[in-house]
This record gives sequence, C-alpha cells and structure tokens, in this order.
Amino acid sequence: MSMFDKTYRSALDALTARGLRRNLRDAAPLAKGQIVRDGRRLVNFSSNDYLGLAQHPLLKSRAIEWTERYGTGSGASRLVTGNLDRYAALEGRIAREKGCEAALILGSGYLANATLIPALVRPDVVANARVYSDALNHSSLIHGIKAAGVRTEIFRHNDVIHLEELLRASSGSSAHRFIFTESVFSMDGDRADLEALITLAERYECFLYVDEAHATGVLGPRGMGLCAQFPGKIDLVMGTFSKGLGSYGAYIACSEVLRDYLVNRVSGLIYSTALPPGVLGAIDAALDIVPGMNAERANLAKDAARVREAFKGAGLDCGLSTTQIIPLILGDEARVMNLSAALDEQGILGVPIRPPTVPQGASRIRFALSAVHDEAAIDHLISAVTELTVRQMAPA
Ligand SMILES: *Cc1c(COP(=O)(O)O)cnc(C)c1O
Repeated sequence: MSMFDKTYRSALDALTARGLRRNLRDAAPLAKGQIVRDGRRLVNFSSNDYLGLAQHPLLKSRAIEWTERYGTGSGASRLVTGNLDRYAALEGRIAREKGCEAALILGSGYLANATLIPALVRPDVVANARVYSDALNHSSLIHGIKAAGVRTEIFRHNDVIHLEELLRASSGSSAHRFIFTESVFSMDGDRADLEALITLAERYECFLYVDEAHATGVLGPRGMGLCAQFPGKIDLVMGTFSKGLGSYGAYIACSEVLRDYLVNRVSGLIYSTALPPGVLGAIDAALDIVPGMNAERANLAKDAARVREAFKGAGLDCGLSTTQIIPLILGDEARVMNLSAALDEQGILGVPIRPPTVPQGASRIRFALSAVHDEAAIDHLISAVTELTVRQMAPA
C-alpha cells in the first residue's frame, strides 16, 4: 500500500475503460516458433526472433562458453573495466558488414536511441541543431529526440516530399539538420526510401540516422540491413541484436571520428554496465551464421508475400507492408481484442497492438513471421485469420 495508490488506480481504471489496459502474461519459448503462454501451446506470430536464432544451438553454446570463461556479468561500464577483450573483433566485423569505418556496441536498442541522440545534437558541439523525424518513428527514437530538447519537425510517414518542403523552408538558416528514420518500420513492416533520403541529406547537408532494428538479420546484403546497400552514405546506422539476431544489445556503425566522440559523450555507454559476456558470445555466434542464411531469408520473404496476398484477397488491410512484419489493421480496439482471443483458441498467438504504440484508430494485430515457421503453420495462420475475420464482419 502506498499513499499514491489512489492516483495510479484511477489512471489504470481509465485505461481499462478505454480498452487499453495491458497485462504481463507468462510465456515460455519452444522450438520452431512456438510458445507456451498462460499454459497454452501456441504458434508464435508476435515475436521478433525472425530467424529463430534465440533457440539456435550455436548461439546457446557460445553464450555458455563465454559465460564459463568470463562470468555472468561484466562488472562495470565499458569505460571502466567492462570492455571485454572481444569487443574490438566484434565491432570490426560489424563495421565491415555495414561498409562503415567503425562500429560501437551498446546495451540495448532503447538505451542506444535514447542516449545517442542527445549526445549527437549537444548545443555545445552542434550550434542550432534541428531535428526532422518520421511520424512513425519508434518510441526510443522519440525519447532520445525529446531528451535532446532541440527544435523538432515531424514529417509525414515515409513522405520525402513533405520532408523536402520542411528542409527547404529552413534553407539558408544556420541550422545543422538531422534526419531520423527507421529502415523497416516496426509496426507497419514498410520500408523507408533510403535512396531518396540519402539524396535529400546530401542536397540539404543533413546528418542521416537510420534505425535498422527490424532489418538486421533479415534484409540487405548478407542480411546485414538495408543500409549496407549504401556503404558510407549514411552518417549513423543503428541496429539491434535483440530481434533477428536472437539475443540482446545494440550496435551503431559510423565514421571513426564519430565513434570516438560518442564513446566520450553517450550517457548510456558511459554510465551503464556493459553487456554480459554470455550475450556477447551469442552475438559472436550470430555474426558467424547470419551472413550465410540467404536461403532462410528467401523463404521468409516468400512466406510473407503469401500471407499478404491471402489477407488482401480476403479484403483485409495489411497497410504497406513489404516485409516479414504484416499488420492486420482493424482500427477498433474491441475488434482487435476479439480476433486475438479467437486466434488463441485456434492455437495462434497474435498480440493486439493498440494506442499509444500505434496511432488512434489504427489498432491492429501485428503478425511477425519467422524463418522457423513451417508451411503448415503459415497455412493455418492464413485460414484462421481469413475465416475468423469473415465471421467477425458478418452481421450477427
Ligand atoms: C525494438 C526497437 C528498438 C529497441 O531495441 P531493444 O533492443 O529491444 O531495446 C529500437 N528501435 C526500433 C525501431 C525497435 O523496433
């Protein structure tokens, strides 16, 4: 009991009344993209473990090996004593795969975005910084931008024409401009037009920052993200090991000078304990195998195309997805909750995504396919979703 319980209870009650209350539910992962949730075995279409690597024997064994050798914790931040003698080799591999001079590993994707951005636009370093941010950028990017406290303009999602209008309006000023986007958007599964963004960044002398959380492992040359197609053209590429790469942590790839600057100024690196050795072991193993997984990536893309076509054929709205992330946009919270419960009964986990994670009126089930889902699982997803939504839309 706390004196403040009354305050927070009424906030919770308000969420419940609006159909927006969230609860933690017990889960235990199984092989082949399955999960036990609240005691029920389901095929998991809501995980970001796009290649199934979180259950891969090589990642597990190397995580154990590095844990045995170095211990369970790193004991301090990288700048104190936490800089395990494995970092240089890992960062060298990431930089090479990304076609950049340098790379830097950080604690988590959220921590990275939240603390990198304020360091990039510090007023004592960058005079008159101005931020341009895609309307659907992830919460961690928004957090970092807000913490930076500089003038910010939001451009319409993936609308490079709108972005150019905003940039043109501030040309001639002394502003140093920074563009923030994701390469694959987390809740919509659509892609940024990186070529157009690079052109704009060059034309208007902007810094370009791209978050590859959902592309890493899945898209681009050797699965190392869409930015790898444009080596040296993007000022800072950020990505995570927590989704397609099956473990935890974040990386950035950039110039040597920028990396050295960030080591001195990113609070999330300076004041947070370095990743545990076991996690670095899993990252090392993922970097060994991910570049060679083209067959798995091709299958995943084929499955995603099949699901999208089937959904669209049934008159369903999958937005502008072109990736393994396929939103089924239903708009109304109650409809989304009902469909998710009905799918659960058919052995399918499709977690509802509601505001504020997505805009008002855009509630959805966000399906995420994995390379370890077999054909039968994909068939079952298609038939369950199309049948249940037809039933839902039919008059009672
Ligand atoms: C998940 C996600 C993050 C955060 O990464 P974590 O490693 O989970 O903290 C950052 N950016 C985007 C676009 C994401 O989807």
